[in-house]
Amino acid sequence: MAKTRPGKRDLDSYTIKGTNKVVKAGDCVLMRPSDSDKQPYVARVEKIEADNRNNVKVRVRWYYRPEESIGGRRQFHGAKELFLSDHYDVQSAHTIEGKCIVHSFKNYTKLDNVGVEDYFCRFEYKASTGGFTPDRVAVYCKCEMPYNPDDLMVQCEGCKDWFHPSCMGMTIEQAKKLEHFLCSDCSSEDEAKRSPSRFPVSPSVEPKVRILILDVLIFPAWAQFSSLIYSVKDYMSLHDYLSICHLG
Ligand SMILES: [Zn+2]
Ligand SMILES: [Zn+2]
Repeated sequence: MAKTRPGKRDLDSYTIKGTNKVVKAGDCVLMRPSDSDKQPYVARVEKIEADNRNNVKVRVRWYYRPEESIGGRRQFHGAKELFLSDHYDVQSAHTIEGKCIVHSFKNYTKLDNVGVEDYFCRFEYKASTGGFTPDRVAVYCKCEMPYNPDDLMVQCEGCKDWFHPSCMGMTIEQAKKLEHFLCSDCSSEDEAKRSPSRFPVSPSVEPKVRILILDVLIFPAWAQFSSLIYSVKDYMSLHDYLSICHLG
């Protein structure tokens, strides 16, 4: 690779000290915190460089844990959730203690087993403002909460919304045994449909997604009382929602 600055040269890879694990640009790594009581920091390696004395440095882009963000950890944040920040740094390669995998939200929810090295990221995070991209997230269930992949949810065969067993008055064990599930709204509608006097309900033109706007900027004090943030809600079409989330 070409030299970037005098005395510095780019490296294609770095082997983690005491291991045979090879780190390349684009890989996600765990970095030793100065305070050994803390969890390792997670970063994405952007570039690996050696100086003329062969000290290896890595340019990294930090992932933030929810508790490290301005809004803090909220109930819907998963245990293995990370935010890809706009905060870059140059660190000694010696602080790298291992590799990890940061999955997309979709791929993470498809994992059969979540290993210690598995994390997921569904938001980018602006460290200076606390803002998120996308700045909205779909909500589900009666409690109108975004999906936390650590929590079991069951899908209603009627409205296709997802529900927490506890919000439907069930235990997790009961929910796991269910072969069919209709939420309370759909089961009462089901009863009504069976009555001959009722007109058929016309289908809605386009599916709507209930969303939560993630805005710690407008209501910074509210961030500590996350239940209040859930009242800041909007409705939009599935198509618009997916295009914001780059999924559509
Ligand atoms: Zn719920
Ligand atoms: Zn339903």
